[in-house]
Amino acid sequence: MNIPFQRVGTEPLALNASEEEAGHELRLEGTLAHHKGGLIRLTAQLSGHLSLVCDRCGAEWVSTINEPVELLLSDRLYEPDDQQPLPWPVVEMPGGRIDAAFLLQSEKEAYRCGYHHCPDCAGDEPVEINEGD
Ligand SMILES: [Zn+2]
Repeated sequence: MNIPFQRVGTEPLALNASEEEAGHELRLEGTLAHHKGGLIRLTAQLSGHLSLVCDRCGAEWVSTINEPVELLLSDRLYEPDDQQPLPWPVVEMPGGRIDAAFLLQSEKEAYRCGYHHCPDCAGDEPVEINEGD
């Protein structure tokens, strides 16, 4: 699914992507709408199943994912304005097209890069890791 930036107006436009990895389906479903400053806001949900590796014991398990995703999309190089920080991360999509499969991939990798405990370790004392924003 590839949506030209010009097609996104003030009416919410659906964005959907799904992929299968090792028999587990992961979906990104949401809507696109205009945001100020020439940006487009994506409000979506990442859901399905994803294999993760436990950060404590190294075991691999399949987790049920149901995560809200809030992003701003830019069709050009985005220069942050320190005076007006944005509430959500900005993803640059050069070429003027919104690539749903790319967004699903990047959200999947971002989720995977987080800190995860398998069900066996989940009951243990949580360890906080702050990697900054
Ligand atoms: Zn574990």
